[in-house]
Amino acid sequence: MEFRDLKKQYLMLKKEIDASIQNVLTNTNFISGKQVFELEEKLADYVGVKHCITCANGTDALQLSLMAWGIGMGDAVFVPDFTFFASAEVISLMGASPVFVDVRKDTFNIDTEKLRKSIQQVIEEKQFVPKAIVAVDLFGQPAEYDKIKEIANEFHLFVLEDGAQGFGGEISGKKACSFGQISTTSFFPAKPLGCYGDGGAVFTDNDEWADLIASFRIHGKGSFKYDNVRIGMNSRLDTLQAAILLQKLYAFKEYELDNVNNVAEMYTERLREIVEVPVILDGYLSSWAQYTIRLTNGEERNGLQKYLVEKGIPSMIYYPKPLHKQAAFASCVDHELEDQYQSATELCEKVLSLPMHPYMTEDNVRVVTDSVKEFLNR
Ligand SMILES: *Cc1c(COP(=O)(O)O)cnc(C)c1O
Repeated sequence: MEFRDLKKQYLMLKKEIDASIQNVLTNTNFISGKQVFELEEKLADYVGVKHCITCANGTDALQLSLMAWGIGMGDAVFVPDFTFFASAEVISLMGASPVFVDVRKDTFNIDTEKLRKSIQQVIEEKQFVPKAIVAVDLFGQPAEYDKIKEIANEFHLFVLEDGAQGFGGEISGKKACSFGQISTTSFFPAKPLGCYGDGGAVFTDNDEWADLIASFRIHGKGSFKYDNVRIGMNSRLDTLQAAILLQKLYAFKEYELDNVNNVAEMYTERLREIVEVPVILDGYLSSWAQYTIRLTNGEERNGLQKYLVEKGIPSMIYYPKPLHKQAAFASCVDHELEDQYQSATELCEKVLSLPMHPYMTEDNVRVVTDSVKEFLNR
């Protein structure tokens, strides 16, 4: 069994994807080909925002967003303690200070009560100036943007939506990657919408930021490529990836997002009585980047993972370490306050992500859930 079956997906779409790739090879427009602009238009349209600017990966997408806001030295940026490293890495890379905030145990997303407290604390300490919140749509479910925006308005902060795992998710029919003043996603192969290499995108309704990001991504270009008006980076999505994504976006919209939600339902149906299953809030839709269960403790989790390996079932621990415990952030953490990260710390001990993708059959799900049951009933 595959954890995320990209082979099955490719076989389903092989004819269209091969033709798209061949078309790029024939035309040799490898950088900035027309497929890139077509994709940007389709993505913006799907998400429901004015601008989509594709780039080289999801990490660059976050960095480009912080660059557009001029985030740097002396700025505090709030970010969940339980997420992939990149969500916070870019904050430090820009010279700003990441402030880690605990998450909700049931949704895995930022705890808005603790977010407010954390902002107030930074204001009182007067060492850094609060500037932005990076909210993450972890495992496919959007963060609680109604509450996050209320807090952001109160303290005059920017909201950046890290939708690397959230593409396709919804709140009340509104699509993920439209909730931040700037939002980003990643097309890393295993993400809900993945390409065949690295890729990413930035979304915004703001014309000025869109122009800035489009400039930053190509060496700070001005009116043309060899007119450089600011220091930027080289971060383009190449034409091959765009051509592949155009085909995959079609499948994603037509059936993959529905299928993956059916798989999640089957999992939850079979597991809800025996483990803590993921909680999707009322009115929310997840794109199920991961299906993550919680066990009673670390020993049980590690035991289950081992048992699944014996049964030929892959599983992953997302994430084994909270950000505040990462060596790279040692200087960003007040160690006297470590107990404020209780939930994130606990999750790192207890979580296990099970095989999850749109091409899982009911039989596949049964094999996994039966094995989980067997282990827990021993
Ligand atoms: C994958 C991921 C990123 C980074 O995306 P890349 O395309 O790998 O650079 C950022 N944030 C989160 C939450 C992610 O899962």
